[in-house]
Amino acid sequence: MKKNDVVTVTIEDFGINGEGIGKTEGYTLFVKDTVIGDLAEVKVMKAKKNYGYGKLLKILRPSKDRTTPECPVARQCGGCQIQMVSYEKQLEYKNRKVWNNLKHIGGVPEKLLARVMEPPCGMKEPYRYRNKAQFPVGRDRNGKLTAGFYVGRTHQIIPCDDCLLGVKVNQEILDIILAFMEQYRIEPYDEERHQGLVRHVLIRYGFATDEIMVCLVLNGRRLPHGEVLTEKLAGISGMTSISASINTEKTNVIMGKEVITLWGQGYITDYIGDIKYQISPLSFYQVNPVQTEKLYGTALEYADLHGEETVWDVYCGIGTISLFLAQKAGRVYGVEIVPQAIEDARRNAEINKINNAKFFTGKAEEALPEYYKEYASRHPGKQAEADVIVVDPPRKGCAESVLETMVRMQPRKIVYVSCDSATLARDVKYLRENGYELTRGKVVDMFPQTVHTECVLGMRRKHI
Ligand code: SAH
Repeated sequence: MKKNDVVTVTIEDFGINGEGIGKTEGYTLFVKDTVIGDLAEVKVMKAKKNYGYGKLLKILRPSKDRTTPECPVARQCGGCQIQMVSYEKQLEYKNRKVWNNLKHIGGVPEKLLARVMEPPCGMKEPYRYRNKAQFPVGRDRNGKLTAGFYVGRTHQIIPCDDCLLGVKVNQEILDIILAFMEQYRIEPYDEERHQGLVRHVLIRYGFATDEIMVCLVLNGRRLPHGEVLTEKLAGISGMTSISASINTEKTNVIMGKEVITLWGQGYITDYIGDIKYQISPLSFYQVNPVQTEKLYGTALEYADLHGEETVWDVYCGIGTISLFLAQKAGRVYGVEIVPQAIEDARRNAEINKINNAKFFTGKAEEALPEYYKEYASRHPGKQAEADVIVVDPPRKGCAESVLETMVRMQPRKIVYVSCDSATLARDVKYLRENGYELTRGKVVDMFPQTVHTECVLGMRRKHI
């Protein structure tokens, strides 16, 4: 295979970025904009020894899983990699991916998977689920002021003020901001020249409370005529917090570190289940609150708590899972590397009057083994134990020292929440080899229209 060859390929899988993967004469090609089941004519753009990248020329026979994307700019945007696949098939694909990884990487027997894996939990309405949106502001090709998204790896903005994953009010907010900028000749930020004032607009929406937050990211400290804008925005029903984030750096990082409240309070409130959260512009918060409740509900169900247990929530973030578990457990310990997230976790515990949750800042791979060692030296003859350990690690999964310590703490149950089923499968292999068996599992679709796949597994300690 060489560059510029034109070949016919059947697409058999999705890659990690949603591109189709097909084989022709044993050679693997990655082809953007194709779907599993497509028969496609493809031009080879880059050829390595065993694999290459192709450009879609023509779909010779469309996959029966194809559907027309709802969003007119789905293909250019790339945020929704698989919007052209019917939702039912998206769920099937995610489920199969987890299943295959557990089987091939994790070594979990097919029979066991068939027994324990539950049907995937999808959304009834797989659009408009995001409670957070960040729109870059700039000028389009014709110099018109616009908000939308960057196309590919360029600085060009495609106008799109109504992302179909976001809430409807985003559009109304952006219209007001753009009209205000037009009226007072306030320049959008120009990345190349590092000039202009308004960089991004961040909007957050509390699904349970209907509270709205708008934060303008500025390349400067002052928004001229800011009071005119805040008065207009404040007229939107539910507006609770308007702020400016100061970011004068030459960087791709969207938010600046300093936030100034311009109107209302500095945060909005939202609920997941019965737990209340205060969310400020810089806080981490799950973007799909409807599915988050289901995900953590599943984790809680798998943890099977009765009220007296000692529970660990490792990689706890702002303590979302910890606080969910604390309602049903004796005590919960959370570990997290980001100090601000731990501050949020503590405040969230306080505003919910939860006093049986304790949070530690640190790297899980250091904090957990250290806790274990220190416990033994303070309590001779005893060892730190846990009834249930929940982990929700980043994509790279759990460090081996974390898994090792978990096994030593002999929890009755381990609940593993994962956003990367390959590393999950690797860790499940370790846990199965060290006394734990898989008892339950479910994909919970947190990110419809995208390839991101989230799942929860339950494991039980075998009686040895
Ligand atoms: N359960 C949390 C989110 C988990 S996401 C929630 O719902 O809010 C994974 C978390 O792991 C992130 O908050 C990230 O900051 C944290 N993290 C990443 N590496 C870590 C490490 N080595 N030790 C501890 N925490 C880590």
